[in-house]
Amino acid sequence: MKAKDLIITPATVLKEKPDPNNLVFGTVFTDHMLTVEWSSEFGWEKPHIKPFQNLSLHPGSSTLHYAVEVFDKKELLECIQQLVQLDQEWVPYSTSASLYIRPTFIGTEPSLGVKKSTKALLFVILSPVGPYFSSGTFNPVSLWANPKYVRAWKGGTGDCKMGGNYGSSLFAQCEAAENGCQQVLWLYGEDNQITEVGTMNLFLYWINEDGEEELATPPLDGIILPGVTRRCILDLAHQWGEFKVAERYLTMDDLTAALEGNRVREMFGSGTACVVCPVSDILYKGEMIHIPTMENGPKLATRILNKLTDIQYGREESDWTIVLS
Ligand SMILES: *Cc1c(COP(=O)(O)O)cnc(C)c1O
Repeated sequence: MKAKDLIITPATVLKEKPDPNNLVFGTVFTDHMLTVEWSSEFGWEKPHIKPFQNLSLHPGSSTLHYAVEVFDKKELLECIQQLVQLDQEWVPYSTSASLYIRPTFIGTEPSLGVKKSTKALLFVILSPVGPYFSSGTFNPVSLWANPKYVRAWKGGTGDCKMGGNYGSSLFAQCEAAENGCQQVLWLYGEDNQITEVGTMNLFLYWINEDGEEELATPPLDGIILPGVTRRCILDLAHQWGEFKVAERYLTMDDLTAALEGNRVREMFGSGTACVVCPVSDILYKGEMIHIPTMENGPKLATRILNKLTDIQYGREESDWTIVLS
């Protein structure tokens, strides 16, 4: 972009000039703002100075500047029921498939400064995920594991669905793609603990060091997002009672030793969008490590997918589902 291309549209109505002795930092905004649009197709457009636009999301909202934002499912069922009924187009989805519900809570305080927001907005968006589930085929993912990036750390916010966690993970995701991998396998600590896959929790179905058949996932020690799907899978596996279920640490050394000993059956991510997502390969220390998830069915991943989608679609009764209308 170039300054000589600048377009200036002066405001016709000016705000009253504030008393300079009573200015509070970050709360008073000028009559004009500068905007420059960008797109991957056309690059930078001409810079434009124009009247300050007081949109319903104020340009000074804390969410935009400091990612004061969380998205999570809370006790919103009645409001969501109304929303679905009002928007008739969504009804077929809500009855024949499932809706991905994304309630988001954002800080809207139009005042700059890193501080707790005193104004907020909760909004809910719905998105159908029906056809995705019914395809019935798994597309396993390859992972890029490099300890130079961390997703979360002890004492941080990695165990909350906070906006800031996700923006900062995109750089690693791009590097994974440059290395021919689809997702990031997030490692942590000196011993390269395996924590999560992209924005999914991670499960390893294997024969552990003690020769026991085990479904393992890292414990909720502050760096793991306590996913609903993770909880469901642990509960289901406990109910089945057919193998050991463990919330335990898993390191890259544990994994490579198990692969050498032919003790790995399946590795998969878990999350609302895909339910389970098999892992086929991990690029680690310059070497592509193959995980035999698909060769082993994947028996357990398929069973979990079928069970959870049967419950979600109402094909099976469960106390995990609530009839909305
Ligand atoms: C959302 C998310 C998950 C999965 O949570 P679900 O409630 O199962 O969808 C796992 N890890 C991260 C980092 C996430 O953001």
